[in-house]
Amino acid sequence: LGQRITQALGSLNSAAVVDEAVLDACLKEIATALLQADVNVRLVANLRNNVKKRVNMDQMASGLNKQKVIEKAVFDELVSMLDGGDPKKTELRKGKTNIVMFVGLQGAGKTTTCTKYAHLWKKKGFKPAMVCADTFRAGAFDQLKQNATKAQIPFYGSYTETDPAVIAQQGVERFKKEGRDLIIVDTSGRHKQEAALFEEMRQVAAAVNPQHVVFVMDGSIGQAAFDQAKAFHESVDVGQVIITKLDGHAKGGGALSAVAATKSPITFIGTGEHMHEFEGFEAQKFVGRLLGKGDWGGFIDKVKDVIPEEDAQQELIDKISKGEFTLRIMYEQFANIMKMGPMGQVMSMIPGFSNALMQQGSEKESQAKIKRYMTIMDSMTDKELDSSSSKLLSEQTRIMRWARGSGSSVQDVLLLMEEYKRLAKVFSTAMKGMKLPKNLKGDINPRN
Ligand code: GDP
Ligand code: MG
Repeated sequence: LGQRITQALGSLNSAAVVDEAVLDACLKEIATALLQADVNVRLVANLRNNVKKRVNMDQMASGLNKQKVIEKAVFDELVSMLDGGDPKKTELRKGKTNIVMFVGLQGAGKTTTCTKYAHLWKKKGFKPAMVCADTFRAGAFDQLKQNATKAQIPFYGSYTETDPAVIAQQGVERFKKEGRDLIIVDTSGRHKQEAALFEEMRQVAAAVNPQHVVFVMDGSIGQAAFDQAKAFHESVDVGQVIITKLDGHAKGGGALSAVAATKSPITFIGTGEHMHEFEGFEAQKFVGRLLGKGDWGGFIDKVKDVIPEEDAQQELIDKISKGEFTLRIMYEQFANIMKMGPMGQVMSMIPGFSNALMQQGSEKESQAKIKRYMTIMDSMTDKELDSSSSKLLSEQTRIMRWARGSGSSVQDVLLLMEEYKRLAKVFSTAMKGMKLPKNLKGDINPRN
């Protein structure tokens, strides 16, 4: 899904002129991809209309980069599609008993996620406990026991009782008496969605009366997500979604469908088998990933795409893979914000980086500021632009010369250097997450 959307957006870049027809074709392709991923028809229509409204071809000044505007509009629309309503309804109540029931198919990651969830809230001062209401899977209780013991969380289960609703009720009663304020009920799944499973979920829910029902979904299920989420939502009142296994290749396109099907927000994501591999959900980051941003393989392809000379490709890759962020790279980025060019396209693939560049107040203000910064950098020597030595760049005589040379105040120069340091930090952090190839020749595509 993400790939198709990225491709559709990419077609904007290859078009000679981006006119109404090109935009329509691009949006049609995106809509088709979303529909095929079972995203709700109305949501897709909304996305199309909203993007068109925002872009409003006629009014857009010819100088503005249309591709960028469209890309941003699509990005924002996808982010808002992930908005599952009021986040307050997923909050735990302090000082009261919170009963949280986990549902999802077998293998989705429920038991693992229960433990992660319990562990997280324990660190925040809650007193969690776990109840194993899975009598379907052999060894389910042992697994939960093991997890809970490791996390030092009290647990309840039975080797003999076969009715999950009975176990769930007993466990919840026990922990209520013991004053536990977060009681997590883990349930069974089946391999398939089947009537017996949903009947069982209804019975467990009736027995424990949970304040929150969490739907746990494997991030790689894609197309099947909508039906699955909807089926659970129809039998128990799902109020939030957790997507697991986002540490692998899965981009999690099914998340859009799960949100649509349950009208509930995604609260956390699982990024590994271990207890701490659990993160709060961030829609922006998620959509970035969905659209393939931050994908090193895609990144190299892009470099090859936009920089024809092999030597120049290698030079850029070398610099970037060293995490070296020079003033010249920053200058080029600023130039690209003014007029999105090849380098900008390349850099936009580094996760978090384009956001960091853009987050500078209103568009007008930030453009003015960037212009000011670029003027200062125009008065720098090549050596200075290519240096990432903080010692060299903080020498007073240089700062004075730049200010004089550009007719700026020393204050502005210092602000520029602050900005540079901030971006360099974002840049190097972002780069750490990417696997770096040694050179452009040979097998450099770690996606396979
Ligand atoms: P359940 O059947 O829904 O209770 O699923 P489990 O919690 O037993 O998990 C099934 C498998 O998925 C186990 O091998 C887990 O270690 C694994 N798993 C769960 N969450 C994640 C995750 O976020 N990342 C990865 N890589 N594996 C996970
Ligand atoms: Mg389980």
